[in-house]
Amino acid sequence: MRILKLGGSVVTHKDEYMSEHTENIKRLAEEIAEAGAYPLIIVHGGGSFGHPLAKKHGIAGGMVDKSQVFGFSETHQAMVKLNEIIVDILLNAGVPAFSFSPSSMLRTDGKRLNDLDTGLIKEYIELGMVPVLYGDAVLDSQQTFAILSGDQLIAKLSNDLGADGVIFGSDVDGIFTDNPKLNPEARLLESVSISGNDANVGDTTHTDVTGGMRGKLSEAAEAVKGGADVLMVNAFVPGRVKAALRGEKVIGTVLTL
Ligand code: ADP
Repeated sequence: MRILKLGGSVVTHKDEYMSEHTENIKRLAEEIAEAGAYPLIIVHGGGSFGHPLAKKHGIAGGMVDKSQVFGFSETHQAMVKLNEIIVDILLNAGVPAFSFSPSSMLRTDGKRLNDLDTGLIKEYIELGMVPVLYGDAVLDSQQTFAILSGDQLIAKLSNDLGADGVIFGSDVDGIFTDNPKLNPEARLLESVSISGNDANVGDTTHTDVTGGMRGKLSEAAEAVKGGADVLMVNAFVPGRVKAALRGEKVIGTVLTL
């Protein structure tokens, strides 16, 4: 079983509020259909849908004021909208996508997802469907609510379902020695050890409440520890996600123990 992450930077125009990247989503849906690498779970990020609202209403820090409740709903609803767009396009491309709303099936505890009942997800996979989940505004046992990143969700799904491979599709070729968007001298690292310190991994250059590449790497490390092959690739480059899904060698970063 594989898990594919479609980063918020890939499925939305990150600098334009609530603007989906239709062209990328359509191309990726076709690549996923052509790869036919099932069983598969897809998780997407929030990009310009979830993050600006989560930031505006301070959702990631939990509830300090009742007035945030409306913003919590708005943040979730923005993600529902993006998810609907993505699932519709996947279905049109012939991928048997099935939407799962994380906030309806889990809660975090101090921002961490410790307990996830994967029974239902497993049943859908066994029927041949492709569950599509996303980073979401969720209830939290300690701080009333929180933002669960798609990246944290992936690590948990990978470990609980015993995924063989996890592919993170983002807007850069992989992990560089430094942020390639800010430093033109940054070099792509073909492999990065999760215990080493090979890269200066920083935040995203966009509004992201869940920590950019640094957060992604620490969540991905959990999947590596659980035994999955983890690969970071550029989902903007046509054919790369398809090749990665097929298990072909592609430009990207492999995470190792
Ligand atoms: P996504 O939305 O696709 O999940 P993010 O925008 O959260 O991804 O994180 C990817 C971004 O992380 C890149 O676009 C880049 O700006 C930033 N980044 C920071 N440090 C690094 C690094 N060392 N290597 C690669 N990307 C980095």
